[in-house]
Amino acid sequence: MDSILESALAQFHHGADHVQLPDRYRELLTSFKTTFQTQFPVELDDHSVHIFEGFRVIHNSARGPTKGGLRYADHVTLDEVRALAMLMTWKCAVVNIPFGGAKGGVRVDPAALTQSELQNLTRRFTSELLPIIGPDQDIPAPDMGTNPQVMAWIMDTYSAAKGYTIPAVVTGKPVAIGGSEGRFEATGRGLLYVLEEHLSATGGLPGRTLAVQGFGNVGGVAAKLMQQAGARVTFISDKDTALHHPDGIDAAAAWVHVQGGGSLKSWLEQHPEAAEPVAPEDVLTADVDVLVPAAVQSVLTAENAPAVRARLILEGANGPTTTEADAIFAERGITVIPDILANAGGVTVSYFEWVQARQYMQWTEDQVNAELRRLMIAAYRNVVARCPIGSRGECTQREAALWLAIERVVEAINLRGIFP
Ligand code: GLU
Repeated sequence: MDSILESALAQFHHGADHVQLPDRYRELLTSFKTTFQTQFPVELDDHSVHIFEGFRVIHNSARGPTKGGLRYADHVTLDEVRALAMLMTWKCAVVNIPFGGAKGGVRVDPAALTQSELQNLTRRFTSELLPIIGPDQDIPAPDMGTNPQVMAWIMDTYSAAKGYTIPAVVTGKPVAIGGSEGRFEATGRGLLYVLEEHLSATGGLPGRTLAVQGFGNVGGVAAKLMQQAGARVTFISDKDTALHHPDGIDAAAAWVHVQGGGSLKSWLEQHPEAAEPVAPEDVLTADVDVLVPAAVQSVLTAENAPAVRARLILEGANGPTTTEADAIFAERGITVIPDILANAGGVTVSYFEWVQARQYMQWTEDQVNAELRRLMIAAYRNVVARCPIGSRGECTQREAALWLAIERVVEAINLRGIFP
């Protein structure tokens, strides 16, 4: 199976072939502007010292300051961070916000640390990142294993080093310190807006069945919002538990429980009538209208792709589909709305947060959601204009999104020129 970096590069070259991209851009766009890697010590609560490894990769800044999340996960590698940085370049270009792409990560299981250990790790890593990040330079945000509190520590550590408060250095902060209304739910809400637009020509979302893999701030919020918009969420799962109910699961109630610190396992224990436990792999092959992989990368593979029964896949996670699985879906006529379009709601509202922080202004949640909807629908329509839904065998929406992104990034490179 390809690694996520191999998949990202293969997809890029495939897209580059289609737009007949000259070699000079090909090399530029498969290289990484800055690769930062550090090993740093953190004193744990028992006074032992543990060395952690962290990364920040800036892929390309032709379209503006760079943007991308920071993940805390025990599987983080430099290749993974590179692939995700490249995807951020495309994602920002697809939704047409003025940012380049970056990503960061620390190899750590955040659940194994106490809050004070997590804070120490975050502050030390932020101080290592001081030469790289900045409100005009590179702006981190939450990703897997990080949250608004982690962003608050980053903002505070950066501000302490500079001597004054700089809210625009990071997005996804708590609202009380310059975060944006609507940012926390933005990725899930963006998925909803794209799905509603996609289904608008064929009867809309009400009554459609859905399987959502992952129940964090992407999958949990998406499941809740889609249920509230009338979908029947028949399968949900987190990393330990998968649940099914043919009439639909009350995802909104499960999300309230998980938000309060619980898991799907403990929710089921309290509400045994709410759903039946099923095998985790059953979620991906569930008999539903729409599959939303919103957990980790590379879950849809050559092995399980032939068994997928949904006719539509909406990618909530980054890179959930391997290149082999993608080819199988194209062959089978299954539509995939790719990550760089479908889950771009998070970075889109990060952009709104950055604008608000720079202006010391606060938008209402209605304003944020209305602008998010506008940008997501415009991006969806731009992609579908390049590859109409149902263009079986001719193109995919992933390819179309990438063509659009590559063209926009290349236009910026051309206008700016190569220095000197
Ligand atoms: N981590 C999110 C993503 O993968 C958001 C990035 C951001 O807001 O900068 O798109």
